[in-house]
Amino acid sequence: MRERAVHRRTCGAHEEHRRLLNTDPAYAANRAIIESQAWEVERGMRSLERSGVTQIPVVVHVVYTTATNNISDAQIQSQIDVLNHDFRKTNADVANVPSVWQSLATDARISFYLATSDPNGQATNGITRTHTSTITFHSQTDDIKSAASGGADPWPSANYLNLWVGPRIVNAQGQELLGYAQFPGGPAATDGVAIVHSGFGTSGTAASPYNLGRTATHEIGHWLNLFHIWGDDGTGCTGSDQCGDTPNAGGPNFGAPGFPHVTCNNGPSGDMFMNYMDYTDDRAMFMFTSDQVTRMQATLDGPRSSIGSTWLIPWTKFTRFTKFTNFTWLTKFTGFTFITPFTEFTWFTRFTGDPPPFEIDPLIQIADLVFALSELLIANVPELKEAADRLAPVGVTHLHELIAAEPDALAQAIGSNAHAVKALQSDARNSLARMNKSAS
Ligand SMILES: [Zn+2]
Repeated sequence: MRERAVHRRTCGAHEEHRRLLNTDPAYAANRAIIESQAWEVERGMRSLERSGVTQIPVVVHVVYTTATNNISDAQIQSQIDVLNHDFRKTNADVANVPSVWQSLATDARISFYLATSDPNGQATNGITRTHTSTITFHSQTDDIKSAASGGADPWPSANYLNLWVGPRIVNAQGQELLGYAQFPGGPAATDGVAIVHSGFGTSGTAASPYNLGRTATHEIGHWLNLFHIWGDDGTGCTGSDQCGDTPNAGGPNFGAPGFPHVTCNNGPSGDMFMNYMDYTDDRAMFMFTSDQVTRMQATLDGPRSSIGSTWLIPWTKFTRFTKFTNFTWLTKFTGFTFITPFTEFTWFTRFTGDPPPFEIDPLIQIADLVFALSELLIANVPELKEAADRLAPVGVTHLHELIAAEPDALAQAIGSNAHAVKALQSDARNSLARMNKSAS
């Protein structure tokens, strides 16, 4: 069957958002909480938790009918490359942002990589391939996201960004879609982004004007809780994308407009149609704003807090862990965040900042890392070193024991050495990486 081209950008994310609000009470409740958290961050009532760059593991599910739309690994990698430019503001065309908004273009501090281990811990290239007889998939039923309906099942959305690439996707009205995303707060079984193969990546079957990978940039923006820049109120001037630094705009812009395009009394600069969250062609969109980045980071702290540098750690794996009597305290100062007891035998822990270079069995290595870090802290924070030397004769050597012996003074010492602690975290990770290398 001949595939029809999409002549204007079409995205089903908002329609899916409305559908879930109307049909899924849990989604509606989650959305209220998520927006409340975002609101607090945007107004400075709550600070962002993640410093540095969050690396998100991606699995691409290629659902294909022909050899042609069974897109190549190279086309998939070309998409990852675009994401890593767009979300780090290293895309060359950011230079085309009009000077009036240059200072608003912001690094989102998010990068993406094809997953290297699958949900069972086995090595993977982060790509699944599923042959199907289904030519047309539907956003309304999410049929591409389930093997039972001709698509491919997701990997756990708490740990992976699921990207489905399909032959053809339509909305409830039968309108051809470039793609659609599920906003945070929705069902795990359908969480992720679906994109038509001809709008994915920059090579192979990617077709102009959607061959620069911006459909995925746009849809992942939704997945991280960004709304369309015109506020999704049709062509009216009352809708808002909840971002203070994106001009109020009348409706979507298509193609590659000339600057400025004034609507809703937003002159002289007009609509920010070069924003990734408008409907312009790939070559005409090239920026996120500061407020959009704040919303995305708030999402990583909130509903997507388990993704990126996060593992579920079985308690039983902490063979050396019992040496610590006050692990919660230690994590506070070492940059580990203990979130919550999950079940009797499992805990979540999370790294803040850059992810560690773990490839093999992160479960045990995290415990090792904490040990390595505590040793480094003692060696490098003068007050700790002094206390360790002084108390060693009475058998006090481990960090938690030192702190227990002289809590106030030493806690303060670590707190006032925050920069040193950060550097030590990096050293500890490097040490572990070397240990792994020599062990394997
Ligand atoms: Zn959209």
